[in-house]
Formats: sequence, C-alpha cells, structure tokens
Amino acid sequence: RLSCQNSVEVQPIIDSTNSELMRRIQQGEALDSGQVLVAEMQQAGRGRRGRVWQSPFGANLYYSYYWRLDDGLQAAMGVSIAVGLAVYDAIEALYGLSVELKWPNDIYLNGRKLAGVLVELEGQVEGPCHLVIGIGINLQMPENASKGIDQPWTDLASHTHSLDKNVLVAQLTHSLAQRLSLYEKSGLTAMVEQWNKVNAFANEMVTLSTGMRTWRGICEGIDPQGGIVLRQDGELKSYYGGEISLRKD
Ligand code: ATP
Repeated sequence: RLSCQNSVEVQPIIDSTNSELMRRIQQGEALDSGQVLVAEMQQAGRGRRGRVWQSPFGANLYYSYYWRLDDGLQAAMGVSIAVGLAVYDAIEALYGLSVELKWPNDIYLNGRKLAGVLVELEGQVEGPCHLVIGIGINLQMPENASKGIDQPWTDLASHTHSLDKNVLVAQLTHSLAQRLSLYEKSGLTAMVEQWNKVNAFANEMVTLSTGMRTWRGICEGIDPQGGIVLRQDGELKSYYGGEISLRKD
C-alpha cells in the first residue's frame, strides 16, 4: 500500500504551480523538501523557453514539487534526468505502461507527448539551491481543449481505465522522493543506463537547436553528466543546457 506523508496543497485555479512556488521562494518563505502543490487548472501554464502548457480545467494533473539541494547549482544539472525516470517509475508502477523519455525532459507514450517537465532553480553556484519541479500529465484531456498543442499528444485515459488522480499524486511524490534521494547520494551513476534504455529517439537522426544554432547527428543517449550525446561524422559529442530543444528529423 502506498502512503503519502508529504504535504500536498490543492488549489482550484492558479496561474502556474511552478510560478507560485518560485514566488514563495523569492519572498523568503521556508518550504519543506517534498512539499507539493497541485492545481485543477492553470491560467498561465508554462513549458520551456516561454512556451505554453495547455492546462484546461478537468482531470489533467498540474503538479509542482519543491526540493532543496545543499550542493549548489552544479548538482542541479542532472535533475531533469532523475525526474524523467521518476515519472517513468510512477506510470509503470500504476498502469504497467512504459513511457519513453525525450531529452532533456519530455515524456512520450507511443510516440505522442503525454507529459512535460519544467525544472526551475533559485540559488547560487555555491550554497543551497531551491528546485521547483513542475510536471504536467495529461490524464483525460477535455474535448476541444487541445487546440493549442502543435504536436502529437496523448492522455492516460486513452491507454488505461483505472485512473485516480489522488493515487497518481501519491505515487509520483513517492517516486520523485526516491529518485531525488538517489541523485543526491550518487548522482546519475545508477540512472544513465536506465535512461538510455527508454530514450525515445535512440539511434535516430535528430536536430538540436537553441533558436540561434542547430546541430544534427544520431542520438546515442546521455553521458554521465546528463548531457545528450550525438554521433556526428563518426565522432561522439555531448551537448548540455536547459534551453536546447531536440527534434527528430
Ligand atoms: P518540444 O516542443 O520539443 O516538445 P519543449 O521541451 O520545449 O520541447 P515543453 O516546454 O515541455 O516543450 O512544452 C511545450 C510544448 O508542448 C508546446 O509548445 C506544445 O507543443 C506542447 N504542449 C503544450 N501543452 C501540452 C499538453 N497539455 N500536452 C501535450 N503537449 C503539450
């Protein structure tokens, strides 16, 4: 049986669960590691690089998890990898479905986007670092609510009948706590191989782009620091950075 001892706050309507936790941190409020904020609807759900996360009222999950790392920003680099695996664990444990992970932090099911992750940080290079880990998972996308999504998407209700949002919140919180503690103890050591097994674009030709520059190559997986490795003209090269977007050619 799963028990969730973390504090889970539920708000009906909010701009963005990540924005709310970031505001609290910036105002100096003391948050507890493992604290969770969930909303029924987001009026300004965010993805990376100013993109919108469609967040209609309904069954979908809009979730943020707070975690404090004592080792500064340096240690935060691989967090997206650990978080992707936590989402993988939760969905596998509850529904027996195996999602695929797209670097750095998207979750696909049968080649369609099921969930998004947005990790935001507040801290110095040295000293404590506050992490806000936002996760949006499509449970049952209401009719007509998907108009703003410009890529193939899916929801859990299309793949399983036994959906219970409370159970998902408890399982996700549990999986995140496990993965993040492991990450704090031993970094990505134990996770690189696991991540590479569920890499959505393994051995595919892909393009990385920052908006300013692009790089093409065969996607080999992640390196020990969580960077993405491309094979380009026979040579392996790693790329890092939260602002890089990866697309299959
Ligand atoms: P990419 O666009 O390559 O997936 P990204 O990581 O930058 O990269 P995110 O920031 O995670 O994308 O999410 C924003 C994008 O996800 C939007 O541009 C839109 O295409 C898509 N999207 C928005 N809302 C949803 C949703 N509820 N379900 C699935 N996809 C969504």
